[in-house]
Amino acid sequence: MPRREHLLKIGVSGVRGVVGEFLTPALACAFAQAFGTYVGVGRVVVGRDTRSSGPMLQHAVACGLLASGCEVVDVGILPTPTIQMFAGSSRAQGGMAITASHNPPEYNALKLFNSRGLFLNQYEREELIDLYHQSEFRNATNSEIRRATSDFETPTRQHIARVLKHVDVERIRGRRFRVAIDCVNGAGSVMTPAFLRDELNCEVHAISIDPKQPFPREAEPRPETLGDLSALMGASGSSVGFAQDPDGDRLAVADETGRVLDNDDVLALAVDAALRRVKGDVVVNLTTSSAIDEIAARHGRAVHRTPVGEANVVETMQAVNAAIGGEGANGGIIFPAVHLCRDSYTGMAFLLDRMAETGESMSALAAGLPRYSRKLGKVAYEHGRLASLMQALETHFPDARMDRLDGLKIMLPQGWIHVRSSNTEPILRLATEARSETEAEELFAGVLKLFEEC
Ligand code: MG
Repeated sequence: MPRREHLLKIGVSGVRGVVGEFLTPALACAFAQAFGTYVGVGRVVVGRDTRSSGPMLQHAVACGLLASGCEVVDVGILPTPTIQMFAGSSRAQGGMAITASHNPPEYNALKLFNSRGLFLNQYEREELIDLYHQSEFRNATNSEIRRATSDFETPTRQHIARVLKHVDVERIRGRRFRVAIDCVNGAGSVMTPAFLRDELNCEVHAISIDPKQPFPREAEPRPETLGDLSALMGASGSSVGFAQDPDGDRLAVADETGRVLDNDDVLALAVDAALRRVKGDVVVNLTTSSAIDEIAARHGRAVHRTPVGEANVVETMQAVNAAIGGEGANGGIIFPAVHLCRDSYTGMAFLLDRMAETGESMSALAAGLPRYSRKLGKVAYEHGRLASLMQALETHFPDARMDRLDGLKIMLPQGWIHVRSSNTEPILRLATEARSETEAEELFAGVLKLFEEC
């Protein structure tokens, strides 16, 4: 159970909290009014995922936006990338997705986008939060109050059309792939089966595609949470399996044996597919696998590393005009030719296209990737001990190359160690990678031992 002060967070990507306790309709309404005041009088696109608190918060948000003089366009239940793209292309001043992404069902959050459909950058966020805390919101007079409209068709159509421009649709359709999906009863529940079946001519075997039902599994799509998808793969004889998180930006992939791929490998396959099609470098966070560096080198491209967090990756992608980017463990693929956001649909299309192009199975494609093993974990520490723990690491590896952009990353001949502290709790996130599982385990155990001794 997280400590109570962590149950509401106003910051990085908007407002997030446990519904009813901290995230209330009154707070959502006030924050939306602040957002409406910030973006100016104009159109704001609002959509949501399938959480039971969604309709309540959507009404509260619409109320705040209308009160500030904005026009509200309700796009209903849609994946976050679909909402972002529509916000960026519909002459809107901004957008909002009401979703707590991969967090448990009792949470909800407001993800905020600017007029380009991108997450607010650090400066925009700070200005908005200042405005919210000052409570000086615009109050539209009767004659200034604008309409609330809806568009449940255009965003999906636009998103799918953009994705399909970057793959050989006929080649995929011709293969009539048998595909298993698990949409966690989330925002992709309707769009994903339609995308695979109607656009890409796949034979779809689906679980958890009822947006009226609760999440049937842990919301984050990781190998440990996707047992039902693996079982469905076996029962249906599918060639590939796809799983999404509740707001449809993250993607996990299973091969034809039902084995769920490591998310870093999914990103590596997507990077390989993208670099075959478009010019530009690759941007990933510091914890993403070195497999990406090898894939990029095969195509003669550079890799830029950023602190962890989608906003950090996206900002650097803009700065270097990147071809593709993402965050391995977080299951995010960001392909700016479609949109500068995490998009599971681009990921699905790329992987099916590679299977169609090469005639290889998903397991064979994964086996062709540079081989690395990773170990990820958390270490609790006492308040006030952080500096000495980090210092101990620096001293222990005097000759290693270090990167201090986000915590400490130590590059060693056999692999790397990345240690970073959580923003909200006294916890260190520890990741190691090496060529073999044994070496990755040894690096991990070595850090734990060092921390115990100091
Ligand atoms: Mg998400």
